[in-house]
Amino acid sequence: MEKVYVIGIGLIGGSMVLDIKKLRPNTSIYGIDTNESHLTEALELNIIDKKASLKDIYNADLVILSIPVDASLKLVDEVLNNISDTTLVIDVGSTKQLFCKAITYHRNRRNLLATHPIAGTEHSGPRAAILGLFKNKTIIICEVEKTAFKLQEKALKLFSELGMRIRYMNPEAHDKHIAYVSHLSHISSFMLGKTVIEKEKNERDIFDMAGSGFESTVRLAKSSPEMWTPIFKQNKENVLETLDEYIANLKQFKLLMEKDDFQAIYQEMKDTNHIKQILKGIE
Ligand code: NAP
Repeated sequence: MEKVYVIGIGLIGGSMVLDIKKLRPNTSIYGIDTNESHLTEALELNIIDKKASLKDIYNADLVILSIPVDASLKLVDEVLNNISDTTLVIDVGSTKQLFCKAITYHRNRRNLLATHPIAGTEHSGPRAAILGLFKNKTIIICEVEKTAFKLQEKALKLFSELGMRIRYMNPEAHDKHIAYVSHLSHISSFMLGKTVIEKEKNERDIFDMAGSGFESTVRLAKSSPEMWTPIFKQNKENVLETLDEYIANLKQFKLLMEKDDFQAIYQEMKDTNHIKQILKGIE
């Protein structure tokens, strides 16, 4: 019977083991988490079969490391020290450069596959776990050549069973690109939420007037600060670059408004409509 240990039984780790259990019902799922109530919840929701601790992962066939990126950086050494020769460790953290650097010289580096599944929601904890979250989503794999070939194969088989598309990238390119498509979207949503909350002190009015446009644009502002602060910290340089470009675009828009240049504003929006074709291509 295959033994899967998930460290961090929240949205991503929880969703991954829900799928694994469905695909491979004979698998035993063990949960490790610093949050005792999350572990109990995960047991009650049948996301895990048993609670476990880091000492136990020597028995693991697969370990999923699915905790905030600052915690991963601290814990990964101990995880790699505790596993057996044949254990595959999959990390799913949203930043890859510092993490990959930190494990470069670990004697068990070949047991770990560094990944980032591009799938998720604004919710966290075991209750947020969803069956089928990864279907038709992309998973980015970094430094694949540093993982033992047999373990690469094992991971690729799992990702294909989960219905995922694979993309390979080096950690630097990953962090640079993800700053635009994920990190900046979150900052923009948080700051839109803040702007509206500050102006509309009566939250009931916002609720009554808000249409689906507001709701979908501000959705990411519900995301967990515990998870996002370390992501922004680890990817500071890239995020600052995206912010410079975004702020320049906002300033340009404001300038055009001040100049009553609505023809230019129309054109800006018309050009940006190209996003429809781009998004259609990746659906
Ligand atoms: P989550 O729902 O908050 O789950 C993380 C769990 O790990 C929580 O139960 C948390 O407890 C626990 N935890 C925190 N520090 C720990 C430690 N040192 N040891 C053991 N458990 C610990 O988070 P998530 O959204 O699944 O994110 C997990 C990882 O996936 C992160 O690295 C994130 O960057 C990455 N990721 C997230 C998304 C997304 O959309 N959410 C997408 C792709 C990748 P507490 O709640 O008490 O802190």
